[in-house]
Amino acid sequence: MEPIFLKPVFKQMIWGGNRLGTDFGYEIPGDDTGECWAISAHPNGDCQVKNGVYAGMSLSELWNDHRELFGNTEGDRFPLLIKLIDARADLSIQVHPNDAYAKEHENGSLGKTECWYIVDCDADAEIVIGHHAKTHEEVKEMIENKRWNEFIRVIPIKKGDFFQINPGCLHAIKGGTLILETQQNSDITYRVYDYDRLSNGKPRELHVEKSIDVIEAPFVPYQVSATRETGAGYERQNLITCDFYSVDKLELHGTAAFTQDKPFLNVSILEGDGTIDGIMIRKGDHFILPADYGEYTLSGNMTVITSSL
Ligand code: ZN
Repeated sequence: MEPIFLKPVFKQMIWGGNRLGTDFGYEIPGDDTGECWAISAHPNGDCQVKNGVYAGMSLSELWNDHRELFGNTEGDRFPLLIKLIDARADLSIQVHPNDAYAKEHENGSLGKTECWYIVDCDADAEIVIGHHAKTHEEVKEMIENKRWNEFIRVIPIKKGDFFQINPGCLHAIKGGTLILETQQNSDITYRVYDYDRLSNGKPRELHVEKSIDVIEAPFVPYQVSATRETGAGYERQNLITCDFYSVDKLELHGTAAFTQDKPFLNVSILEGDGTIDGIMIRKGDHFILPADYGEYTLSGNMTVITSSL
């Protein structure tokens, strides 16, 4: 059994930059490349397998025709979506509904829970996470009266920070930030505020009523567990375990053996290089270790983010 390496899909965005090319060495389509869909079976960016017996198949085909690779997990779609995001400019401020709200208001869609690992950022970078309203009434009042500066919670960030973004949590990346996003495979987003910017002479569409419906108050920040597992050659930290995914950060300095005992494991190399079971891997590689992969050995100096159900 081999790791399943995937070919990323790139998305040009008005707020995108060139760091996915300069930092990660990808062949990007332009200097406005905002997103690298690294592990995705979404119809808007379905990654192709690069190696082995499944080479050329898309991840959605693999999910549909070889469910045994995913531990026979049930569901009509591959449940997660892993992206790298390079924001040169500020993104609009958004919120996602939960499954129940999306089901009722978005034709049976799923809601969206996501999380962000800060891969790199400018020295003075900030991020929008949450708001300062104390009650739902105050959320409504502050949005309707455009009290954005008082309402929006902006905090400084640094490389290595991690944020869980549950449904109902206001959020936005600001310029100068490169993140790895792990999310439910869903697209339902409500845009609350776009800094009053114009795109082709017009403001972008906002979803103010739905946003007010779903924003939760008061905002409660997520505390990353400080629990770390340290072994010879590595340190591993569980960043989040929620209903939709579990995300770990692994820092490797040497050689260490691990066991893949999940239905499947998504692996993203964010820094450094090395090997997995003798196969060369480097920053920017993304692969899946399928069900029953069993024991594997990593060697090298690497920062790795993994996710599983
Ligand atoms: Zn989001």
